[in-house]
Amino acid sequence: MKKERLEAFQWNKTKAMLEHAYATVPYYTKLFDQAKIKPQDIKTRADMHKIPITTKKDLLSLKKEDIVSSLYLHKQLEVVSTSGTTGVPFKKYVPLETTNIAHATKLRKFVMNSYKLTWKIGSFTHFYPTKKKWFHSLRLHRMINIFAKDSLQQQIDLLAKKNPEFFSTMPSRLVELAKYAREHQIVLTRPQAILCDSETLTPHDRKLIEDSWHVNPSSSYESREFPNIACECPAHKGFHVDMDLVLLETKNGKLKGSAIITDLTNKAMPLIRYEIGDVIEFSHNPCSCGRNTQMLKEVAGRTNDFFVLPSGKKIAGAYAITKKLYECHAVQQFRVHQHKDKSLEVFIVKKEGETIPAKEIIKDIKTENENIAVKITYVDDLPPLPSVKRQYFTTDLRFD
Ligand SMILES: [Zn+2]
Repeated sequence: MKKERLEAFQWNKTKAMLEHAYATVPYYTKLFDQAKIKPQDIKTRADMHKIPITTKKDLLSLKKEDIVSSLYLHKQLEVVSTSGTTGVPFKKYVPLETTNIAHATKLRKFVMNSYKLTWKIGSFTHFYPTKKKWFHSLRLHRMINIFAKDSLQQQIDLLAKKNPEFFSTMPSRLVELAKYAREHQIVLTRPQAILCDSETLTPHDRKLIEDSWHVNPSSSYESREFPNIACECPAHKGFHVDMDLVLLETKNGKLKGSAIITDLTNKAMPLIRYEIGDVIEFSHNPCSCGRNTQMLKEVAGRTNDFFVLPSGKKIAGAYAITKKLYECHAVQQFRVHQHKDKSLEVFIVKKEGETIPAKEIIKDIKTENENIAVKITYVDDLPPLPSVKRQYFTTDLRFD
């Protein structure tokens, strides 16, 4: 679609969602009434800022009947639990039609990244095997489950045996395999395309994955609240926003800021101007692939994932990780934590019988980051954070 048509399509869906939410969801009726606005007052995109922002915290205390549309209260809804940095899960109610659209959009992202239906997908799951569907019998859209619980060698062997043409995975799973293969001098079987999701694909990850599989991976931006937000195409010129599913804004109205998202598909539990907690940056440059969607230049990560340099400059948490630390063979697992006084503490789980070049790692981090104070602490285990997602960087500093 042309840009203008896409925008009109998105705006019509937005208006319909605002009216639906105001008329049938008590939380939004109250929110609009308190702000002394009606859906009809929101005439253009520029009026959206009149609607107060909703956060996960606002929704946690609500009863189901306050946040679920009265038209859907007695329908069968899927319950998706989202964990958060606070560790307090909140429940999202999803009707079947929304789940179906989410699946279809995921497939659209695959296809946008060269996927063909006859290809096998290496699906790097954590726990759940993919259920067999009718089209699998026709040898279409087949999934090869690569389980996290299996050893890295078993995972590599399975990939070599089944040879999936497409990988759909969190980047951390490939990073683990790539490091293991490098250490054991294993030549990895090469897929045609790789689509990473769930976690931020850091520049280090991208390079390691590209060096290991000779494929430049694409990254999909999504969350538990919004299973599809935006996705890279093979041109890697930024993220194409899923304009038929979400309306995306920044809190400050500028190109870069905290992401505010309005869901355009879930009518059971509408999320309107929801602050997801990520920092995004829009781009005015159209993508060279010819798709005319709104573009994101960058998804900089969680708002409270920022790494603050001694000078006060804020950068994405991923940049607190330097090459020496990331690539060190003796490091089994690591996490960098920034304390309130801005000093860094690097927690490292050592590999058995290996020596960590601690001085070199500290020197590398200091050189890259304005001579910041760094110390290394060895631990036996790094307990997982509330989500299954990898987090290289955590911080005690908080930002709005
Ligand atoms: Zn593109």
